[in-house]
Amino acid sequence: MKLDILAIGVHPDDVELSCSGTLLKHISMGYSVGLLDLTKGELGTRGTPEIRTQEALDAAQIMGASVREQLDLADGFFVQNEESLRKIIEVIRRYSPEIVFANALDDRHPDHGRAAKLTAEACFLSGLRRIETFERDGTTQVAWRPKAVYHYIQDRILKPDFVVDTSDFIDKKQVLIHAFKSQFYDPLSKEPVTPISSPEFLQVILGKEANFGRFIGATYAEGFNTSRVMGINDVFDFI
Ligand SMILES: [Zn+2]
Repeated sequence: MKLDILAIGVHPDDVELSCSGTLLKHISMGYSVGLLDLTKGELGTRGTPEIRTQEALDAAQIMGASVREQLDLADGFFVQNEESLRKIIEVIRRYSPEIVFANALDDRHPDHGRAAKLTAEACFLSGLRRIETFERDGTTQVAWRPKAVYHYIQDRILKPDFVVDTSDFIDKKQVLIHAFKSQFYDPLSKEPVTPISSPEFLQVILGKEANFGRFIGATYAEGFNTSRVMGINDVFDFI
């Protein structure tokens, strides 16, 4: 299966929290989107890995994603080594995405920055044909390098290199976030309170995206960083 966009997050809810409005918008425009979680989020304070995996599959279905895969890198302790890179390269080659979304380059959770660099490096190495990887049925995979890696802004307010108007998708984005029932505000939950389980947390996300939207005259927007130079054919296409 070929994808237009592969959105990669180290924890199963990173993508929903940070760039799901952009993904919903592109799905509505006819682009194919797949999701990859690098870990099962087993260090999360609330819920269990099994619950989070089911929540992730539910969210993917609500989003309209074509596929969601989970790798088994160690939450909190994964390292950038050949084994980790090969696992990600295999998924990139399986779906040959044109564009990859990755974690924020600098963030409150140290996993995010490390996963951002790991993902970007895997995207580059995936294009080197002398790195041999295999499909699940044993066939040799073909080298593939995505055209671009865009890092979605999550917790820390980084200055975006570009923002995407997601105003029409802010309601459905909140439905996706609430698919992760174990992680976010639930008045009936007996689990420990965390920084993201308070009722105010959603307001923080909305406030951040309202601010990004304000930059381009939109109600809401999601922000991204990239190391590449952005090109355009018509300067009037800028919002
Ligand atoms: Zn995370």
